[in-house]
Amino acid sequence: RHLNGTRKAVQFYDDAMRQNEAIRLHVLAHVDKAVEDGWLQVYYQPLVDIKRKAVASYEALSRWSDPQYGFLTPDQFVEPLERVRMIYKIDLNVLRRYGQLVRDWQAAGRTVLPISFNISRTDLEAGIDLFGEIEAIIREEQIPKKLVHVEITETALNGDSAVMQRAVRRFHDMGLEVWMDDFGSGYSSLNVLKDYQFDVIKIDMVFMGKFDERSKTIVRDVCRMAADLGIRTVAEGVETAEHYAFLKEVGCTYAQGYLFSKPVPPDQIPEEGFQF
Ligand code: C2E
Ligand code: MG
Ligand code: MG
Ligand code: MG
Repeated sequence: RHLNGTRKAVQFYDDAMRQNEAIRLHVLAHVDKAVEDGWLQVYYQPLVDIKRKAVASYEALSRWSDPQYGFLTPDQFVEPLERVRMIYKIDLNVLRRYGQLVRDWQAAGRTVLPISFNISRTDLEAGIDLFGEIEAIIREEQIPKKLVHVEITETALNGDSAVMQRAVRRFHDMGLEVWMDDFGSGYSSLNVLKDYQFDVIKIDMVFMGKFDERSKTIVRDVCRMAADLGIRTVAEGVETAEHYAFLKEVGCTYAQGYLFSKPVPPDQIPEEGFQF
């Protein structure tokens, strides 16, 4: 019976592997179609200004609604596309779709809130003029630059730091804020704060997930240090009132997480904005 159970487990694992592999290949083969035919949607998750308890901006996150495989989350398409350096197609799509939203909302007399959107390190190694492409979309869609912030994940800072420092400077020259995503998830450390001029640090959600004394001490000190350096902070993965009270006490600038809202499609953002 034991053997039988093992065999079943292996079979199950095999099927799952094969399914993942099929999705991976499907994603690589259809990324252009997904962009052109609107399979890619942009969801928005509010970041709450902790002092004012009001929405300050949204993080724009990609979702892939596939005619064959249904709803795909980023873990199913981001890494495969990064590996072949095609994720920039998705990242640029986010900005373009946001541009359309800004125009729609302006036409409807609605308040437009800023966004942060994600880029991957491989966007800088894809053999495209990333900065030129972003500049072009901002110009064509007439997006006010102060509405756009770029998130770069901490792990992307590994490798050639000159390349990344130049990238941060280029974005600043363009008039865009640069935010560091997932701080504390990788191996880089205080060097990052010294060597890069980030406007905002997003503290990885593992700290809220654990929320023991050690995690709290780290979050407290990161928030204090960032404040002294003139850098704003976001806590990711804020799920409870207890998290929020703690963040308020330690002077974190923004909170992002399910306590307020999951990422939602734009038509689920209330017209008068989220009220918390
Ligand atoms: P990220 O940039 O760190 O985005 C935050 C992730 O945390 C999102 O997952 C969000 O749904 C999730 N999250 C937010 N609040 C909570 C919470 O309270 N609890 C929990 N458990 N999770 C929360 P999502 O949308 O699945 O995205 C995962 C990652 O995929 C993102 O992490 C980002 O690295 C990447 N990604 C998503 N969209 C894009 C994109 O358009 N371009 C690129 N390059 N990467 C993207
Ligand atoms: Mg992010
Ligand atoms: Mg993050
Ligand atoms: Mg992340």
